[in-house]
Amino acid sequence: MPSRRDFIRKAGLLGATFLASPLTGLAEKISRTESKDKLKYEQFIVDQVNKIKEIIAGKKYDQILSNSYLIYALYCLQSFLDQVSNPKNQHHVPEKIIGSIAHLITPEFRAQVILSLEERTKEKERQENKKISTNESLPMKNFIFGKKGENHNNAVDLFAKESSPVCSVGGGLVLVADSNWQPGNELSSSSVKGGNTVITFNYLTKEFYRYVHLNKVAVCSGELVVEGQNLGTVGHTGNASRPGHGEHLHFEIHKYLGDKNTNQALLASDLRKRLENLKHIT
Ligand SMILES: [Zn+2]
Repeated sequence: MPSRRDFIRKAGLLGATFLASPLTGLAEKISRTESKDKLKYEQFIVDQVNKIKEIIAGKKYDQILSNSYLIYALYCLQSFLDQVSNPKNQHHVPEKIIGSIAHLITPEFRAQVILSLEERTKEKERQENKKISTNESLPMKNFIFGKKGENHNNAVDLFAKESSPVCSVGGGLVLVADSNWQPGNELSSSSVKGGNTVITFNYLTKEFYRYVHLNKVAVCSGELVVEGQNLGTVGHTGNASRPGHGEHLHFEIHKYLGDKNTNQALLASDLRKRLENLKHIT
């Protein structure tokens, strides 16, 4: 969806065309491209929502990883699902898709998915003769924490040189590996703000790790990773592309609480402590 500012800018351009005829062609081109995009977006949303509904209704847990929007819905907090369920808060394609299926993410479905992810990881462990553990390691060799007050409540921004390698903090199964983000293309990532993103899940701790704004992504969904394994490089995709906001890894951990059957986000202060402890270990 174009932002309000885009709308005003384009409306201004359209207004100008009445005064200056050489702009008429440009204005027509903009509105033609916009309606083409709109149609493409609408069809994409319908297709994705139908695919997700099929997976949920058919209890096709083995197909979970085929849809990163569904994974994202399972990753995020109930408060986000409630928020995007309201069409007023659906500003981009991913929010429209997730908002349309949010009511289908029931506690039972969530519990079944967690179980299936555990089974899937164990099967991978057997196949590859590899074991994941609860050990953790630092996501990057050198980084500095975002300043207090500039940071998030439930995430940390870790500043590092662009293209620095980003490594997996914990072991687990790669659930999302969005690697084709393009500016202005709402279909290029399951999170417009996140850009190129990796989400992994560790069944031992029931924790999801999310790495955001990556440049290159070095893993695929369904892959098993151990702590310290390369996931990609620091970039400025998603909303980190805005001036002065690049060169950082946005990092989050969400924990599945089995007894409450919901997800909880780790607070930024706890994330920071956890990473600082690792600095002392390594
Ligand atoms: Zn951030």
